[in-house]
Amino acid sequence: MSPPEIDARTAHAAGVERLLESYRAVPPTASVRLAKPTSNLFRTRAKAQTAGLETSGLTGVIAVDVNTKTADVGGMCTYQDLVAATLPHGLAPLVVPQLKTITLGGAVTGLGIESTSFRNGLPHESVLEMDILTGAGDVVTVSPTEHDDLYRAFPNSYGTLGYAVRLRIELEPVEPFVALRHLRFHSLTDLVAAMDRIVETREVDGEPVDFLDGVVFSAHESYLTLGTRTSVPGPVSDYTGQQVYYRSIRHDGALTRDRLTIHDYLWRWDTDWFWCSEAFGAQRPWVRRLWPRALRRSSVYAALMRYEQRFHIGDRIERLNGRPPRERVVQDVEVPIDRCGEFVEWFLATIPIAPIWLCPLRLRGAGWPLYPMRPGRAYVNVGFWSTVPVGLIDGETNRLIERTVTQLHGHKSLYSDSYYSPEEFGELYGGDLYRAVKQRYDPDARLLDLYAKAVQRR
Ligand SMILES: Cc1cc2nc3c(=O)[nH]c(=O)nc-3n(C[C@H](O)[C@H](O)[C@H](O)COP(=O)(O)OP(=O)(O)OC[C@H]3O[C@@H](n4cnc5c(N)ncnc54)[C@H](O)[C@@H]3O)c2cc1C
Repeated sequence: MSPPEIDARTAHAAGVERLLESYRAVPPTASVRLAKPTSNLFRTRAKAQTAGLETSGLTGVIAVDVNTKTADVGGMCTYQDLVAATLPHGLAPLVVPQLKTITLGGAVTGLGIESTSFRNGLPHESVLEMDILTGAGDVVTVSPTEHDDLYRAFPNSYGTLGYAVRLRIELEPVEPFVALRHLRFHSLTDLVAAMDRIVETREVDGEPVDFLDGVVFSAHESYLTLGTRTSVPGPVSDYTGQQVYYRSIRHDGALTRDRLTIHDYLWRWDTDWFWCSEAFGAQRPWVRRLWPRALRRSSVYAALMRYEQRFHIGDRIERLNGRPPRERVVQDVEVPIDRCGEFVEWFLATIPIAPIWLCPLRLRGAGWPLYPMRPGRAYVNVGFWSTVPVGLIDGETNRLIERTVTQLHGHKSLYSDSYYSPEEFGELYGGDLYRAVKQRYDPDARLLDLYAKAVQRR
């Protein structure tokens, strides 16, 4: 072990000790929760009454092993910090969620996705082993062969079975640049057919496709962006300044090309939180010039959004203008690729939200019980993040989306508002198995239950 690695392991061990002390300080009658400076969770939560778990010592990269192409990382390490440690070695995590402050533990327990997911699956599938603080207060190492029940039930458990304090993950080689092709489609059927082909062949016109995602602006204007790793030097674009990435995708021809550094490609969606920075005026040229570059990032918009939610500023403005308050529709859903066109057509005709993000994925191996997707089958993640006028009942539009997704044999991520009944929820998210694992690793229910957290907003 090198001296810096010894230091990092010592610091991590001290961090675990502080975490355990803070666990022991929580009264036995109170729920155990994380105290973490950032979050990408969107649902509102009840305010905690007691101090949360101390996680400040678990935010580092412990070691990057170039030979085995693996990294050992603290559970609350952000992907931004991890990528900063791996790129100098020409390596990256197999899936890097787009928002810089998403942590390894958060992406594994709450499911992340990105444009490598059509070949690398989801972030938890590249976890070789994890140390988890269970509800019972033990730190156990889990892997496909040790405590495999917890290893398999952890993805989509949102910290209700335990907290990941260390993860060992696989890395893959990357090149310094990504060459982009933006393909335009005038029909969603054509776009989905092309996406399906690329998921299978991983190439278009003889050029390999290493990264694949898409944006739908309307039924007649949609794009697939194909990325190819390359070491060929040359000019690159910069979308952290005055230009906005998602706008650069749009064109009237069949194909445009672009190039980014691998760093800027991985964080291309963070600068403007996909397109959501528009809500804060950050895409207006004069505002953009004044908005400090370092503050053009998703964590800043997320903080502004939380402030807005807390004080209902948007609803007050709507009321002043004589309009009804708005329902938040911030969701990511997965539908089988053969139902994707149908879902998006329905969505565009029914819900007044665009653009929409598309990201194909296929599991690498066996299925995962709390988010049951069929191994070997291709799905498409559809992301939409906005508001609509409120309906007659609470969460009317979100409920309609939930029903439609279930009818199409899809699933919904649980980072945002959900309205399922306990029975539906149990059927969709591995109910019986979840309860058995919960009973084994959190027998006194020190951690919240998944339904309480995801639907009852506790
Ligand atoms: C607008 C929006 C768009 C999104 N888009 C994407 C996307 O495109 N791609 C993508 O990959 N993801 C996306 N996400 C989802 C995001 O990846 C998940 O919400 C993820 O869980 C956030 O991780 P975090 O580290 O910020 O965790 P937090 O937001 O802090 O926590 C999320 C949940 O995970 C639990 N948790 C946190 N750390 C740990 C840990 N170490 N061990 C166990 N449990 C833990 C918390 O208790 C909490 O329940 C999006 C979220 C939002 C709000």
